[in-house]
Amino acid sequence: YAKQNMRGAPVIFTERHEAEMRDFSLVDQTLRGSDLDAEFSIVFQPQVDIVENRTVSFEALARWDSARLGVVRPDIFIKAAERSGLITQITQILLSKALKHMAEWPEEMRASFNLSARDIRSATAIANICDTVERSGIDPRRIEFEITETAMLTDFDQACEALSRLKVMGARIAIDDFGSGYSSLGYLHRLPVDKIKIDRSFVVQLVKHGTTLKIIKTIIDLCRNLHLECVVEGVETEAELNNLRQVRARYIQGYVFSKPMPAGEVAGFLATEGERLSLAG
Ligand code: C2E
Ligand code: MG
Ligand code: MG
Ligand code: MG
Repeated sequence: YAKQNMRGAPVIFTERHEAEMRDFSLVDQTLRGSDLDAEFSIVFQPQVDIVENRTVSFEALARWDSARLGVVRPDIFIKAAERSGLITQITQILLSKALKHMAEWPEEMRASFNLSARDIRSATAIANICDTVERSGIDPRRIEFEITETAMLTDFDQACEALSRLKVMGARIAIDDFGSGYSSLGYLHRLPVDKIKIDRSFVVQLVKHGTTLKIIKTIIDLCRNLHLECVVEGVETEAELNNLRQVRARYIQGYVFSKPMPAGEVAGFLATEGERLSLAG
């Protein structure tokens, strides 16, 4: 890096920032030259209803095992693909794959997919998403789309339009990573939202800081008043789970129940969960 600094790189670009930029373009170039359909897979993480003791949905999460780079972390390849716009193509591939898996699941089981700002900013991308769902034969009411607050608020009107089209099809909408950005409660009733996912950063502080539980309780109560479903994300321990029971949290996603699993493990997970959850409960 010393060499590059001597070439007169602007001081405001830190070495770390430069390295990051280079990485993203490497990742992006590699993505472009790869057989995405072959190298991408999906893992599924359960969302558990802790009142009824059963899994109600699975979040579909992307995994990339690159022939050239090896396994690349999702936050890295998603960000690279978002910057270049390749994300809309990746969303399509993942959605098609996940819908095929869903065809083998129990009929009431739902799945959620992450959409990025790019996906909801493009009318074509949204039309393709609807098309893929409709042609799959999967009931759209079993499908949920997750969008982060930040993506939602980048262009509010466009987000509204995109989300409305997904809703018209019958899908549900969730706000992902709620509370991690500049939350503005004002938008909640102006968007066609069905569900909120409380960000893991709250859960991390849960056992240490008593006030965090109060904040979570406030969000849960708010959701109840607005008739929104509420999931707490990133719950790792029994201690966290017990705290959350106290404030009437109902839906939980996190390592305490399961890490994201390959599609082939979903059936086995569901077959044995009755036993597991009654032991835990
Ligand atoms: P996310 O949508 O908020 O997904 C939840 C992330 O938290 C996942 O990370 C999951 O593995 C992780 N997680 C779940 N429970 C726990 C827990 O108890 N403890 C800890 N430490 N982590 C937990 P993952 O799979 O690495 O994905 C990271 C992010 O990448 C996702 O955050 C999402 O924003 C993005 N992403 C993943 N797949 C896709 C995709 O197909 N499309 C888009 N647009 N974004 C995706
Ligand atoms: Mg998500
Ligand atoms: Mg999240
Ligand atoms: Mg996230």
